[in-house]
Amino acid sequence: MAIFRADYHVHLENGPYTSEWLESFLEFARRGGLQELGFSEHLHDFYEGQEVAGRWWEGDSDSVEREYAERWWRARPRYSLDAYVAFIQAYRERSDLPLRLGLEVDYFPGQEEALHRLLAAYPLDFVLGSVHWLGAWGFDHLDRLERWQAHDVDMAFRQYFDLLGKAARSGLFDIMAHPDLIKLAGYRPSYDLKPLYEEAARAFAEGGVAVEVSTAGLYRPVREIYPAEPFLLLCREYDVPIVISSDAHRPEEVGRDREAAVALARRCGYTRVCRFLRREREEVRL
Ligand code: FE
Ligand code: FE
Ligand code: ZN
Repeated sequence: MAIFRADYHVHLENGPYTSEWLESFLEFARRGGLQELGFSEHLHDFYEGQEVAGRWWEGDSDSVEREYAERWWRARPRYSLDAYVAFIQAYRERSDLPLRLGLEVDYFPGQEEALHRLLAAYPLDFVLGSVHWLGAWGFDHLDRLERWQAHDVDMAFRQYFDLLGKAARSGLFDIMAHPDLIKLAGYRPSYDLKPLYEEAARAFAEGGVAVEVSTAGLYRPVREIYPAEPFLLLCREYDVPIVISSDAHRPEEVGRDREAAVALARRCGYTRVCRFLRREREEVRL
């Protein structure tokens, strides 16, 4: 059996939905020897996604974060979800490289039903579940990482892993994206993370989700793959399957540093990765 190479975390959001822009991503995928390419636009970039999420920032008592969150969120949508789905579906008919239709979706507790209905209405191949917000605080916004100084690091890590576990058990997602994203700015809690890693690994197993080994973290202040090695080891112990992803936002980022992620996965005992089609998962050789 041949080794399977795919990238299921790729964003077209920095360009238009045109053949030229999409083709530039395919070019790098072919060059990197990928056999499948999965697009994962952020649901919040579509009008439909904004509607489903509602005013999720409102419960936070921090008015600085609330105001920023609302402004940022409201400025995002540029397309309808229908247009994105139609664009990828039409292109996959004539693409030599198999394409997969995905979405990256923020988890906000309380919206499960509405979100489930929306996701079920589209012929998606996979859904990435993400935690980017703790209350109204978008902790991964690179242009305002200084906001970390206004927040309690110990609490942020606890809150993050709590949401991540809830997201994994929600039944909404196929793959948990960048599973320890909370470390990106380089801040570390004062306590040992192992119990939180273990709880998360258990939630992944019980929620039936796969987990991403994402090289994007290598390009953040933390300079480390998501998840950290001890975390991935626990995922392996709990039999949580993986995918290897780049979180590319530019064509040249597709599949980048894949070898480093493969090496980490192998060190942790993985010999297989997942392949997705119409939200069905199959495990194939890594
Ligand atoms: Fe993300
Ligand atoms: Fe992403
Ligand atoms: Zn993104």
